[in-house]
Amino acid sequence: MSNERLVYLDNNATTRVAPEVVEAMLPCLTEHWGNPSSAYDLANAPARMIAEAREQVARLIGADPRNIVFTSCGTESNNAAIQSALHCNPTKRHVITSVVEHTANIKFCGQLEKRGYETTFLPVDLDGGIDLCDLQDAIRPDTAIVSLMWANNETGVLFPVEELAAICRSRGVLFHTDAIQVAGKLPIDVRSLGVDFLSLSAHKLRAPKGIGLLYVKPGAPFEPYIIGGGQERGQRGGTENVAYIVAFGKAAELALGQIDDENTRVRALRDSLERGILQTIRSSVRNGGGEPRLPNTTNIGFDGVEAEAILLLLDREGICASSGSACTTGSIEPSHVLQAMGVPLSRSKGSLRFSLGLDNTKADVDWVLKKLPPIVSRLRNASPKPLGQAEAHLANAD
Ligand SMILES: *Cc1c(COP(=O)(O)O)cnc(C)c1O
Repeated sequence: MSNERLVYLDNNATTRVAPEVVEAMLPCLTEHWGNPSSAYDLANAPARMIAEAREQVARLIGADPRNIVFTSCGTESNNAAIQSALHCNPTKRHVITSVVEHTANIKFCGQLEKRGYETTFLPVDLDGGIDLCDLQDAIRPDTAIVSLMWANNETGVLFPVEELAAICRSRGVLFHTDAIQVAGKLPIDVRSLGVDFLSLSAHKLRAPKGIGLLYVKPGAPFEPYIIGGGQERGQRGGTENVAYIVAFGKAAELALGQIDDENTRVRALRDSLERGILQTIRSSVRNGGGEPRLPNTTNIGFDGVEAEAILLLLDREGICASSGSACTTGSIEPSHVLQAMGVPLSRSKGSLRFSLGLDNTKADVDWVLKKLPPIVSRLRNASPKPLGQAEAHLANAD
């Protein structure tokens, strides 16, 4: 069972830190360890390195560096945008988001409800798409902010952010997008997007975990979420995480040069993996629409098998994928994203997400296509209750 091979197909969960990124951040932990806010010479290098990183991340999204606020993670960025909108508009107590947002956002909005705010979760269709009319209808005079993700982390499905932002602008409502899965995979230009706030997280971009950013459009009202010293132009307290900010900057610079590779080579690998699985494994169905979606992600359901069982056997072959399921106190709950899309339970319980990255090769895809089909067959044959006629019918009905 000792397997040297590692086929990492879970890049939407986190990515391996690029060697160039490690190299760029190390001097901040050794030579340039000063506090960037101090007045003496020791502070100059870290302050300068943060300024450069700010320019690098700004370039990735077409922003002015002055409109970048570094945070501790993508979750903080998302929370900060919504919290700030409510704080800046105390008479507006309604928030609009969607049923397929990242779990952190869903929980944050649940928390808002407990604090007396009102929320609307926009639905999606079977392809994971959103209806612009639903947003039009949901906006109320007391809506403080609309927060909708750009790319779904489980299915890769893209929301039409430019159009969603335009609707909000025309109705005078702030708009935030969680673009965490988009960075490095598709070009981002905050100006043409027309968003007020946009979140990124560095660890989805070949930098370390624990650093993120929030873009705040010039002129958009903003109140800090973490209150402290005057760091980040007073928009986020706490001494800067210099090393990780520098890492984020370097990763952003690398990502700009790799978007083409993601959209040609990685996309082709994803497509051949998806095609291979759907062609060789019976009763396997892709979850989510074909286009537009991220170039690296596919989510496939296998009727009548438990995703966790497949993942365990894949892991023994050195393959890392994900079920998108949330494990709550031992019971495995099907993904809230697939449930919201209306994927039948028998399929959503057996659904896997494969998210490729720049390190993947054709050999990785070949390995999965060799190992996965016998694993699924084995589990289906071992299943005490094989797929009944009614269930099989249900599973094929859509
Ligand atoms: C990973 C992820 C987050 C959370 O980012 P962290 O930096 O891990 O807090 C939020 N939204 C999406 C879409 C993500 O993929």
